[in-house]
Amino acid sequence: MFESVPDQDGKGEEKVGRRVFLASAGAALGGALLWHWRTPHVIAAAAKSEPGIVTIVQFSDAGKRLAKVKIPRVVKTDEEWRKQLPPGSFGITRHADTEFAYSGKYWNLHDKGLYRCICCDNALFSSSTKFDSGTGWPSFWAPLAQENVREVRDTTIGMERIAVSCTECDAHLGHVFDDGPRPTGLRYCMNSASLRFVKAV
Ligand SMILES: [Zn+2]
Repeated sequence: MFESVPDQDGKGEEKVGRRVFLASAGAALGGALLWHWRTPHVIAAAAKSEPGIVTIVQFSDAGKRLAKVKIPRVVKTDEEWRKQLPPGSFGITRHADTEFAYSGKYWNLHDKGLYRCICCDNALFSSSTKFDSGTGWPSFWAPLAQENVREVRDTTIGMERIAVSCTECDAHLGHVFDDGPRPTGLRYCMNSASLRFVKAV
């Protein structure tokens, strides 16, 4: 690719440019490999937890839509999240890990209620859109409000997927696929460890 770069000041400068390029490419590759080795899904969830204002729709515990509000994004350090979260939730929500199928507490739950973010309490899903996907992960055909989840293209395991995270705090929740039931045809495949169920009373 460097052959196409105009070489205005002679070969010396071109050689330096090439060497710098190769060195940084090597470092980037090494970093990417290390990153992959540590946790395969982390890239999509990283680099987003910066202070800012987000728009979400608030819901009561009974599932009543309350108001659309602009609030500051919840940003905490890994250390703070680790202290706050139950065991098993930190790696999944903050570093985009995935729980084993059939290992979570909600894949087979059929109670009526809503599912909030384990990290920030943002209302994410309702039992009314939950369905048995046969995957071993809690699955929904729609979020409670589209504003409350963020969907980002994720190619970290060599296949194209759409990662789903919490708008309010950037917690990784799972992925969404297009093989779900009607009416949306979507399957939000979530980690139980990212959710907190609030039973309808
Ligand atoms: Zn959240």
